[in-house]
Amino acid sequence: MSQNHPYLGLQLPSNAPFELKPSHGKGWGAFATRKIERGAKILEEKPLFVIRKHHDEITEEDVRKTFQQSTPRGKQQFLSLRDNAARPFSSMNYAFAENSFALSDNPPKHGLFLIHSRFNHSCIPNCNVPSTNGEIIASFATRDIVAGEEITFCYNTDFECRTRGDRHQVLRFTCECKACLPGTLFQQLSDTRRTLIRGLQYLTLGRDLDGQRQGSESPIIIDSQLKKAAENLAIQVSARLVYNLLVMSLLDEEELMNDFMIGRMYPGILILSTLFKTEGNARLARLAMEQKTWLEKLCVAFRLWGRGDVVDYGIALQLRMIHGPS
Ligand SMILES: [Zn+2]
Repeated sequence: MSQNHPYLGLQLPSNAPFELKPSHGKGWGAFATRKIERGAKILEEKPLFVIRKHHDEITEEDVRKTFQQSTPRGKQQFLSLRDNAARPFSSMNYAFAENSFALSDNPPKHGLFLIHSRFNHSCIPNCNVPSTNGEIIASFATRDIVAGEEITFCYNTDFECRTRGDRHQVLRFTCECKACLPGTLFQQLSDTRRTLIRGLQYLTLGRDLDGQRQGSESPIIIDSQLKKAAENLAIQVSARLVYNLLVMSLLDEEELMNDFMIGRMYPGILILSTLFKTEGNARLARLAMEQKTWLEKLCVAFRLWGRGDVVDYGIALQLRMIHGPS
């Protein structure tokens, strides 16, 4: 069946470190043809076409109009798109939805990407497609990838805080990655780790993933006093540092630590570690940040646990000014 598959006609850049071929149970996928070093760019791609609307506002008519304005080659490539069962898509809108990436939220803009859309999902991916301000997207290896390995990225941005069941509901398919394979110790630990990460984020931000507060029957923070303190941004600086470093250690164990995650999380943690005004605390925080691994940093920082700092009251006020009153 794959011998006549239209994806065989998709043109990859001549130096692409991967090939496209069927991936068991997942339609087609991208597989490394040589070793790809952590941090290396895997592919840069221009969209076949762009629709300037919110995802849920794009209609069949929008896609049809854009298609008609496309070049003959663009039309042919669009019509070569297939679903996971190798059938043509039942509608143009569906084909667009399954093969597009959000380029910007404000103003809304979605691009159809033929090759990056062949990359499959994993909840423990080896590649990242960072958001872009322009129209060209690029993918980067988040760890070393060996020849023959499938190249995957995570389709959602907050999956490090979601359990297997939660993720599958969003994905609308059953992922079979290491974090999703039922009956394994890693999978059970993975659900525990990701639930903890979500709770720790609530404690430091005072909000859940959607920016909202949980109701009084919070499944995330059961202790109502602790929940209230988090929502009032009244968590001590020492606890904040411990929570943040615990998140990093959990991400590390979950095999989700990479340069993008560090770039997102580390600056905030570094600032946090310099806020202490009580001398003994400041010294411990410095010592913690000097440690090599996230676990070692956490172990030293944990000696701050339960210690108040003269800066605590001022920080709560500052955070409330930034995030708004409770
Ligand atoms: Zn998975």
